[in-house]
Amino acid sequence: MSLVDVIIVGIGGMGSAAAWQLARRGQKVLGLEQFDIPHAYGSSHGISRIIRLPYYEDPAYVPLLHRAFELWREAQAASGRELLVTTGSIDAGPEDDDLIQGALASARLHHLAHEVLTGAEVNARFPGYRLPASHRAILQPQGGLIASERAIVAHVQMAQALGAEIHARERVLHWAADASGEGVTVVTDKARYRAGRLILTAGAWMGELTANLAPLAVPERQVLAWLQPLRPEWFTPERFPVFNLQVEEGRYYGFPVYEVPGFKFGRYHHRNESGTPAALLREPDAADESLLREFSQRYFPAGSGATMALRSCIFTNTPDEHFILDHHPDHPQVVLASPCSGHGYKFCSVIGEILAELATGDGSTRFDIDFLRLGRPGLVKVS
Ligand SMILES: Cc1cc2nc3c(=O)[nH]c(=O)nc-3n(C[C@H](O)[C@H](O)[C@H](O)COP(=O)(O)OP(=O)(O)OC[C@H]3O[C@@H](n4cnc5c(N)ncnc54)[C@H](O)[C@@H]3O)c2cc1C
Repeated sequence: MSLVDVIIVGIGGMGSAAAWQLARRGQKVLGLEQFDIPHAYGSSHGISRIIRLPYYEDPAYVPLLHRAFELWREAQAASGRELLVTTGSIDAGPEDDDLIQGALASARLHHLAHEVLTGAEVNARFPGYRLPASHRAILQPQGGLIASERAIVAHVQMAQALGAEIHARERVLHWAADASGEGVTVVTDKARYRAGRLILTAGAWMGELTANLAPLAVPERQVLAWLQPLRPEWFTPERFPVFNLQVEEGRYYGFPVYEVPGFKFGRYHHRNESGTPAALLREPDAADESLLREFSQRYFPAGSGATMALRSCIFTNTPDEHFILDHHPDHPQVVLASPCSGHGYKFCSVIGEILAELATGDGSTRFDIDFLRLGRPGLVKVS
């Protein structure tokens, strides 16, 4: 039976970043992934994810975001791969919407560079957009996208170069924590392992690996679309900021053309479908496509040419849509990470660092994550 310092279950966005951060600290790491590295059956595929600073969800995320940006740049330099592409970010919607008020509150509290524009001004400056003229928009210059699948590969390779052992196609069946609080046993479909500490970064499968998280980390189906722009020159990273947009049809997000030859976008809580990960990853159908196309034809008509790609993907939602980052309530040697609710990827770099801190030494972290811990009022108590 192998003995390592830390076992990480799930080498997706979060697990791969944690592997690198732990390996950098000289920890002996074993990472276990049920599928390939990377793969298209979880939450991190689809080429890119938005990173944005004026965080409308809660200003408490902004200090984490500053560190996330630093670490993305560090990983980019260390790996020699393009991981962060700066496009600027736009948060837009009716002036009194939470999206606008929250983004403004974060920008002002944390003194973030930003401009407040009308929809008409956005449309004039970025002609791919056709927002309602009276909308408000917050344009922030540091926003952009992270090359999410490439970042998983980069994190894994950097971790391996420092001695981490990573196994793909090895599924964890169950784990048990020693009553002493000191060690864990992990059983897979191939072997049995021992470690001092365990990190669970299992994405949509968190509830299957820790029953008490099942009601708090609920998988939901999403669909991404890439449509061929009719005016490609308006949809380049230089001329098309990533966006979060609140309109009467719902809340949507989108990207310039990057890698896949299409303008990429999606709708939060697409068709409000929850279930098991396997069931949620069914192929996109005509109803998915027409729901998304109606949106782009109205607000991004020059981006609404032929379909280039459609992909299903999974959100894992908590009741208050904030992440879960904490030690297991009964086992201090086990760290739980469910950082999704549709907005977690941008934080992978800093969450990797936080997880490394929680899983080493006395388990404390220098980051303020109280608002993400299990005991917060927004979550029902886990016993
Ligand atoms: C369509 C879509 C759009 C999004 N857009 C954005 C965005 O623009 N910006 C942003 O910041 N965030 C965004 N998010 C959220 C973000 O992608 C997630 O927060 C992030 O991918 C979560 O990473 P993870 O490591 O928790 O999950 P994953 O990357 O899915 O990793 C979990 C891993 O655990 C593995 N695993 C599970 N169970 C086992 C087991 N028993 N044994 C071994 N391995 C196991 C899985 O196979 C998987 O690889 C989006 C999500 C989706 C779905």
